[in-house]
Amino acid sequence: MKNVKYGKCTRCGKTHDAVPDLTICDCGGILDIEYDYDYIKTQLTKEKLADRRDMTMWRYRELLPIEESTENTPLRVGNSPLYEEPRLAKALGLGRLWVKDDGQNPTSSLKDRASAMAVAKAKEAGAQVIACSSTGNAASSLAGNAAAAGLKTYIFVPSRAPKGKVAQLMTFGATVISVEGSYEETFELSKQAIDKWGWYNRNAAINPYLSEGKKTVSLEIMEQLGWQVPDYVALSVGDGCTFAGVWKGLKDLYAIGFIDRLPRLISTQAEGCCPLNRAITDNKPWEPMEENTLADSIAVGVPRNADKALAAIRESNGIVVNVSDEEIMAAQKLLGRTCGVFGEPAGVTGTAGVKKLCDQGVLGKNDTVVSIVTGNGLKDVANAIKACGEPITIPSDMERLLKEFDQRGIVVE
Ligand SMILES: *Cc1c(COP(=O)(O)O)cnc(C)c1O
Repeated sequence: MKNVKYGKCTRCGKTHDAVPDLTICDCGGILDIEYDYDYIKTQLTKEKLADRRDMTMWRYRELLPIEESTENTPLRVGNSPLYEEPRLAKALGLGRLWVKDDGQNPTSSLKDRASAMAVAKAKEAGAQVIACSSTGNAASSLAGNAAAAGLKTYIFVPSRAPKGKVAQLMTFGATVISVEGSYEETFELSKQAIDKWGWYNRNAAINPYLSEGKKTVSLEIMEQLGWQVPDYVALSVGDGCTFAGVWKGLKDLYAIGFIDRLPRLISTQAEGCCPLNRAITDNKPWEPMEENTLADSIAVGVPRNADKALAAIRESNGIVVNVSDEEIMAAQKLLGRTCGVFGEPAGVTGTAGVKKLCDQGVLGKNDTVVSIVTGNGLKDVANAIKACGEPITIPSDMERLLKEFDQRGIVVE
């Protein structure tokens, strides 16, 4: 890879050759992939990119840690819509607001960007089998992207994972181990199994290439905005890989001169599980928390990518905000009703954070914000019904319909 220098430990600074099955440093630190930006500048220009036909995440190859000869993975990952939402901006009191609907990826979450990268790197490594533990979306995206590429998967999920995600896993033919325990316990079992059988490891943060896939969401946002930088980018945070990836993508674009400033990031966590935000607020090392929220994808008590995520919050002069499950459910309803965007609870948590900051007067009419919806609501219909209610259920009877409308005060215009 001419564009990549090495993997550098975020803890001790040691550098490692960027081999396809690279994991963590000997000291236990997470690695960060470092690029040769001078070389990349000679290879990629805005004009070249604009002429490119490939509308998947692989259109940003020059900024990705893959061999030139590595083929695109089969599913169409990336190119999710960025909607400007003037009515929601007005309702919240913001200058401008865009919603990046990453639930429109092939397996309906942003995790496809990391899993496609894992499949590309597993192919480079000559691996036939990939494994991971996951709250659900890393799992379903890995199972789908691997199935399309003809690779086998072993997947570990906590038994609380919503049915929609489990249905995806079974459909994509993964061998699924549903662990009766927390995500932390699920992760531990997967680690032991991966060590024992030597499978290609797609565990969050352990594999340094995954964030590099995830960063394509910010490359895309910036291209979709014509390289005009918003003031803020908001998203939900669990392990912290997505957040760190978003920041990395923005820094890459700044390093090659595609953007002239960097936005501030907004890290949104659930009140019942916010170890990273708490570390920032208390200015102390992070400590484990219980996994107490209905937003299952960010119910991560022991974040795997804490170092990189905390660094990204600090470097971006970021804002941290915690939201209750009620606020998450309200955001699900608000996005659905104002924008026609259906996000799963963790998917809309970033928007819940934006709303809260608007209510508190931290954000206002001079601010421009991109809110990333990270996963689709169909993955967890039980919580959507809980947030948004049940339909009017009646027999096929016009009298009954009139009566129900009357009783509920529904006036037909
Ligand atoms: C995984 C996930 C997140 C959080 O990403 P991390 O890398 O764990 O911080 C947020 N929303 C959804 C829908 C996810 O699947």
